[in-house]
Amino acid sequence: MAKIIDGKAIAATIRQEVADDTARLKAETGITPGLAVVIVGEDPGSQLYVSNKEKACAEVGFYSEKHELPATTSEEELLALVERLNDDDKIHGALVQLPLPSHIDEDKIIDTIHPMKDVDGFHPVSIGNLLIGKPGFVPCTPHGIIVLLERSGVDITGKNAVVVGRSNIVGKPVSVLLLQKNATVTICHSRTADLAAETRRADILVVAIGKPRMIKADMVSDGVVVIDVGTNRVDGKWAGDVDFDEVEKKASAITPVPGGVGPMTIAMLMQNTLRSAQMKAGVKV
Ligand code: NDP
Repeated sequence: MAKIIDGKAIAATIRQEVADDTARLKAETGITPGLAVVIVGEDPGSQLYVSNKEKACAEVGFYSEKHELPATTSEEELLALVERLNDDDKIHGALVQLPLPSHIDEDKIIDTIHPMKDVDGFHPVSIGNLLIGKPGFVPCTPHGIIVLLERSGVDITGKNAVVVGRSNIVGKPVSVLLLQKNATVTICHSRTADLAAETRRADILVVAIGKPRMIKADMVSDGVVVIDVGTNRVDGKWAGDVDFDEVEKKASAITPVPGGVGPMTIAMLMQNTLRSAQMKAGVKV
């Protein structure tokens, strides 16, 4: 039976570490990390993510601001708000919840967030720094995946890591991070000729495709470590991209859905915001 990688517990530990470091930063410098979250429109999924981020901020001792804008907000109005947040000294991290209404150009908004406040790690400068191994904000979900592996005692060096999915927010950045940790990385996508042949070669398999239970037991080798990023609603319940019940029998370790990757994303967002405040304060991290 596979070891279950407990993302909830690991994320709670990270949030506690952030809370401790936040208290220290406040005591030593008087600076309170501040996060601003902007949401446009009424998408219930986005509303839930945003309120979870607010709750997490309160828990670790951050200052937080929620800007709720109607779906009719113009691109110019949103850009003006982002620029105000860029100039606001109370704010160390600013993010705009995606997706945005179709009349707003998401790239334009992301490009306007100051790279020093880009705690989501989606700005081209952050992605460029990640690619060439320079310090910068690392996108939260991919970073959370690496932390899950490391804190579960998985040695990444020299392993065959196979990533299924090549999105800008998960597949590509997690591939780069695995490469930096000295894995031999294969990136698969919808045009991969023989997906099962690739996934069977994996020592570490990261799946981020958004197709419920697509990875079956015959697609993995014994002893594989599986990170399932997928969050799909099936019959009113959460399901990952991996058929957990089947694959668990062959894996040495696996993340559940929910309770695996999901909780790490917000924990890493808190960590990025703290780092931003620490950098501003000139505190060495
Ligand atoms: P995208 O839809 O942006 O990307 C999906 C990727 O999967 C694409 O690269 C696509 O290939 C590939 N793909 C789709 N179908 C197949 C297939 N049959 N075989 C091989 N590859 C395939 O998704 P995201 O990366 O944004 O998200 C992936 C999943 O992770 C979703 O379920 C999402 O909800 C979840 N997620 C969870 C997070 C969390 O915090 N837990 C955070 C972010 C995402 P191609 O490029 O060729 O189209």
